[in-house]
Amino acid sequence: MNKMDLRSRLFLSHLVVMFVGIVSFVVISKISSPRFFVLHLEKLQHEGFDLLDVRTDLVDGFEIAWSRSTLWSVLAGTSAAVGLSYWVSRRIVQQLTEMEKITQRFATGQLDSRLPLSEIPELNRLGASFNRMAASLEGVEVRRRELIGDMTHELRTPLTVVRGYLEELADGGIESSPEVYLSLIKETKRLERLVNDLQELSKAEAGYLPINIQPVNLLPLFKSLVHKFADQLLEDGPVLQLECPSILPLVMADIDRTEQILVNLLGNAVRYTITGTITLRAWAQASQLHIAVIDTGIGIASYDIPYVFERFWRADKSRDRHSGGTGIGLAISKRLVELQGGLIEVESERGFGSIFRFCLPLA
Ligand code: ADP
Repeated sequence: MNKMDLRSRLFLSHLVVMFVGIVSFVVISKISSPRFFVLHLEKLQHEGFDLLDVRTDLVDGFEIAWSRSTLWSVLAGTSAAVGLSYWVSRRIVQQLTEMEKITQRFATGQLDSRLPLSEIPELNRLGASFNRMAASLEGVEVRRRELIGDMTHELRTPLTVVRGYLEELADGGIESSPEVYLSLIKETKRLERLVNDLQELSKAEAGYLPINIQPVNLLPLFKSLVHKFADQLLEDGPVLQLECPSILPLVMADIDRTEQILVNLLGNAVRYTITGTITLRAWAQASQLHIAVIDTGIGIASYDIPYVFERFWRADKSRDRHSGGTGIGLAISKRLVELQGGLIEVESERGFGSIFRFCLPLA
């Protein structure tokens, strides 16, 4: 079935309303006006006017006058109404067509396209909510592009190293030896870690990570983590200690995600601390449980602190690449803390150590 467009519909509905109005006006006045006129004449006759000779002329004259003036008023009214309804329907439809064009432009990739304001409140609200959606999609797209840019950059280095080794081996430039294979294994492990971290990060950033928040006691987790990490420390390395009250209040948190955050923070502390102490401290304050990982390691320079939670950021790119750091751990930790309604901060001084602190709401 051929569907009528909105403009024709609006125009036609105006015409129908107008037509019904005119027809009822003409019919009712055609039936009632002569009667009223005749009644008026009879009243005049009762009052003593002699209208007998002119009565028929008067009635005919009235009817002619009525028909003419009705014809002119119908013509003038119809043209005014047709013009006005054409203008109104055109104005509404024009704005809708403009909106359609802009949304199509947005769909083809022009993400900065926005709908203009309209003086029709409903269209204005529709435009405002489209603009909000467009801004958030534009943000997602920008983050996606940045992530892909950073990711390709990070993946390229180990891939180049692996290809270099393999080409040298193929050309006979280097002898195959256990060391060469160990280097290859190290680079591929790094690639594997990078891919795993990226998967976690993209899930956390897109909000796809299932977060199961419930009242939990974190003390057993703290104890087991300290035990696990203490086992990894060398004899002459730093000492790992737990400082927290023997009874901890319950917090609203996802225990697995909290463990992931602490593994990242403790792992970094172990990696960047040669001697001294690493302390896992927890205390309750102002309806929050504060958790801090404090180390006496190499610290972070004050000008680097603002970038610490950015993905792929490493204070010393080449050294950390060598030590296996991907620069993603803290970006994931930050997102995981935020997903649980908390905040993460860092305080650090180059050469003296760092404090990574986050809080979780008490249950
Ligand atoms: P990485 O896998 O490289 O450790 P992170 O996101 O966990 O990635 O850390 C980013 C960078 O922040 C590290 O490369 C390091 O330069 C710095 N950093 C993190 N934790 C510490 C710390 N406890 N002491 C000193 N520097 C740190």
